[in-house]
Amino acid sequence: MIVIIGSGIIGLFIANELLESGKKVTILNLKKKASATSASVGMLAPLIESKPYEKELFDLMLDSKALWDKKKQYKSESKIIGLKNNSSMLVAQNLDDLEEIQFKKKFIDNLGYKTELLNKNETLKIEPNLNSNIEGSLYCKNNNQVEPHLLESYLRKSIFKKGGEIKTVENFEKFIFKKNKLIFNESEIKAEKIVVCCGAWSNLLLKNSMNVSFEMRPLKGVSMIFQTNTKMFENNLWFKNIYIAPRQNNQIAVGATEDEKGFDEDVTLDEILYLSKYLWESLPEIEKFKFKKISAGLRSAIVDGNPIIGNLNIDKDVICSFGHYRHGILLAPITASIVTDYVLEKKIPNKYCFFSPKRFNL
Ligand SMILES: Cc1cc2nc3c(=O)[nH]c(=O)nc-3n(C[C@H](O)[C@H](O)[C@H](O)COP(=O)(O)OP(=O)(O)OC[C@H]3O[C@@H](n4cnc5c(N)ncnc54)[C@H](O)[C@@H]3O)c2cc1C
Repeated sequence: MIVIIGSGIIGLFIANELLESGKKVTILNLKKKASATSASVGMLAPLIESKPYEKELFDLMLDSKALWDKKKQYKSESKIIGLKNNSSMLVAQNLDDLEEIQFKKKFIDNLGYKTELLNKNETLKIEPNLNSNIEGSLYCKNNNQVEPHLLESYLRKSIFKKGGEIKTVENFEKFIFKKNKLIFNESEIKAEKIVVCCGAWSNLLLKNSMNVSFEMRPLKGVSMIFQTNTKMFENNLWFKNIYIAPRQNNQIAVGATEDEKGFDEDVTLDEILYLSKYLWESLPEIEKFKFKKISAGLRSAIVDGNPIIGNLNIDKDVICSFGHYRHGILLAPITASIVTDYVLEKKIPNKYCFFSPKRFNL
């Protein structure tokens, strides 16, 4: 039995992959109001997210994106999880933005990938509901989107179908793991290996239980969902301060704030103001947007910006999988595949060893 601690997108993906490999799986989850997955917008956009000095992360994003692209051939599954065939557009609202997207194009070109610089008319032809005073856009083909809430419920059902269990636990702040047993809250469960994927809360659990501590912190993010009467956009739109993803049934998701607010799980007025203000500055006719939902999520950020995927020196049967920061939805398929290799004790490709806890001597 493999016990997975945490049922965010990372835990759910890992559980599915392990069940497919023939392992028995139980997920234990302590319910938190602001799991990152619940607020996520679901962009699958490695080109947009590429940054200087993040070569290993970029390659990991591309590998995961390739796994997402494979899923697109299963049309009915893609529909259920809201996996789209759309693209991303970085919109320039003024001349400064235009310079920035020109720079971004050069950067992506140098990485060996193609993007298209569109002028104002070309942009408006594709997205006529944008403001008419935009300067142009950078078009990143196939940097698409999946709908996290649909994906979560699909994965849960699939875990149950394959014989896995998802248990909600109370007060899971500490565990003891020895001799194939996981002991917590005075109960015990058989476990040959455990996988810790509690997102932003992973460090608290590891510190309390094994005295292992990573340099990491929660980065709070808030997103909103709106309903419109007709479909407004085809593509994911990225502005300087916000991004927008069209969803099924004429809904749109708007993200996201990013603040150092510790473990604060509530939505505050400044966050509502931030998103509303930039939405108003970015799009015309926002009176057409009917408010549906607002969610806060805590992204888990490791000090070097890369996720932790791998087992601990102190106990090889404890596998870590957290710190996915802004990219957890995009990175979930490749993360699940790497974790499965750790569980099955297969040789880990060198490029993925980079993400192991060993880079912090842990
Ligand atoms: C506003 C916002 C927008 C985002 N947009 C995107 C995007 O467009 N594309 C993208 O790729 N990524 C995006 N992200 C990032 C992405 O959502 C995260 O990287 C990803 O969801 C992390 O998943 P996770 O399973 O590691 O963590 P979480 O989703 O936080 O799940 C952790 C789980 O562990 C549980 N837990 C906590 N403590 C314990 C414990 N002690 N015991 C047991 N269980 C515990 C929690 O209840 C939770 O269910 C966004 C994030 C935010 C906040």
